[in-house]
Amino acid sequence: MPADLSPAHTPVPADSDSPLITFDNVTKRFGSTTVLDDLCFSVRPGRHVTLIGPSGSGKTTILRLLMTLETPDSGTIQVNGDRLFPAAERERRQARKKIGMVFQQFNLFPNMSVLRNITEAPVRVLGLSPDEAEARAKELLDLVGLADRTDAKPAQLSGGQQQRVAIARALAMRPQVLLLDEVTSALDPELVAGVLDVLRDIATTTDITMLCVTHEMNFARDISDEVMMFDSGKVIESGPPEKIFAGPEHERTREFLGAVL
Ligand code: ADP
Repeated sequence: MPADLSPAHTPVPADSDSPLITFDNVTKRFGSTTVLDDLCFSVRPGRHVTLIGPSGSGKTTILRLLMTLETPDSGTIQVNGDRLFPAAERERRQARKKIGMVFQQFNLFPNMSVLRNITEAPVRVLGLSPDEAEARAKELLDLVGLADRTDAKPAQLSGGQQQRVAIARALAMRPQVLLLDEVTSALDPELVAGVLDVLRDIATTTDITMLCVTHEMNFARDISDEVMMFDSGKVIESGPPEKIFAGPEHERTREFLGAVL
């Protein structure tokens, strides 16, 4: 049976006009460095948005704010109408549940089997029975091509396989938004394609909203509805990939693409 990737929470209909994610005048500083500078942007449901730009321009910080791993100094962040910041703890938890993230370094639980890595949070956080969680985990492992590795420990898998488990683990929480932070950067080159194929599959067969930080420009071109170019904590240019890659307007975008393409 194919994996049910519908979100656990009442979603805004895909391609509705109301945004799913909104950043309003968000500023984030680390010490005296302003990493995000009065940033405003929104993402509509079902869209696949790629954040590009030089290292240090604030892309990962945006994903970490959405995961509530960082706190903004000022501004408002909302997800599907619920506030992440500023917000009471209860509302923040509600908003946070709609978001899943895959990290550069997989971050699997090393002592747990592949299956348990995926069932742990749905049982503890969503309150699924162990049987339900296991059935769903097996569907997801099938989706990422690892149906035969349920009992393996993370260390017994290649980096690409571990990352595919991490993708399945994020999806097991049935998020409305999937955040992908340079998910192929830690992989040996021959393992990159398998992970990107899985993500391409998810992007084309589901309504899930994706926010993706990547240096894989061909992948960005393939899966994105929109590319946002960052420089010094601001969006300096955004648009469909064919526009950004083929005819960037901003000199900084031309320089950046010239260096990475
Ligand atoms: P990008 O993803 O575009 O490479 P980041 O969002 O990771 O950029 O980082 C933006 C800036 O914030 C960088 O200068 C980075 O060193 C700094 N930074 C990120 N996280 C922290 C932190 N926890 N403490 C101090 N500085 C940080």
